[in-house]
Amino acid sequence: MAQRSQRTIRREATVGGVGFLTGADVTLRFLPAPEDHGIVFQRVDLSGKPCVPANLEHLTPRQRRTGIQKDGTSIDLVEHVMSALAGLQVDNCVVQLDAPETPGFDGSCRPVVECLIDAGFEEQSAKRPILAIQSHEQFVADDGGIIRAQPFGRRGMTITYLLDYGPRSPIPAQTYTVNVTPESFVNEICFARTFILDTEIAALKSLGYGPRTTAKDLLVFTADGVLDNELRAAEECARHKILDCIGDFALIGCDLQGYFNAWRTGHNSNHELMQKLRDIGQQTSGQAEAA
Ligand SMILES: [Zn+2]
Repeated sequence: MAQRSQRTIRREATVGGVGFLTGADVTLRFLPAPEDHGIVFQRVDLSGKPCVPANLEHLTPRQRRTGIQKDGTSIDLVEHVMSALAGLQVDNCVVQLDAPETPGFDGSCRPVVECLIDAGFEEQSAKRPILAIQSHEQFVADDGGIIRAQPFGRRGMTITYLLDYGPRSPIPAQTYTVNVTPESFVNEICFARTFILDTEIAALKSLGYGPRTTAKDLLVFTADGVLDNELRAAEECARHKILDCIGDFALIGCDLQGYFNAWRTGHNSNHELMQKLRDIGQQTSGQAEAA
């Protein structure tokens, strides 16, 4: 598979929203960045406006979400913004924000995608490195979820997510597969919203999370179905899990070529698989072909 050119955005773009965790008003400002810069978040609300590169080295442990940290500066819930950037193949960008977390928006990353498309894209001279999966790798998460990476004859990255919380779960078992391209990301993935069980909300509220978040802002599943909302697609939850995979996988900092198959996994398993792939050192030249 030939390497593609790196990309940044053509001009600055801004989008705002409310943070799911803190309830803070957050403004995100995307700025073009030079080749080989990567995605870097910048906290403009802190003195010195510190930066935190979005990569595996700066991951910080979080429950059911992805956070990054450097020298005491942290940014929480980066996965949906990372997914929008990766899905649209924006490799180099500064993401300024004025709060400790990104906005939750409608639980999806569609508003970020629309903002980036509005900014336009700029091809750069440097090529984007590719990591081609050469052998079967598997990671078994603490909760029993499994994620596998394997070589695949098709171009680029294909992800299958099998979501199955058992017959008693209000969330029906579902599966979705996508070959990830900017087109498929926009048409099939970016609109899929995050989801939660109504029985999980009290515990989160007791921790102070979600002071301004309502059932309209994400998918809340009750025994009777989705609360105060309509599904955007039959497999919206599985599609959202793929959205999360794309954002988490992007922390490895290169394109992936291979087939990924996930069953009941979450952010921590995504991170651990990427760390495993990085450590194996499978990064290959641009001429690499999947086996
Ligand atoms: Zn998510």
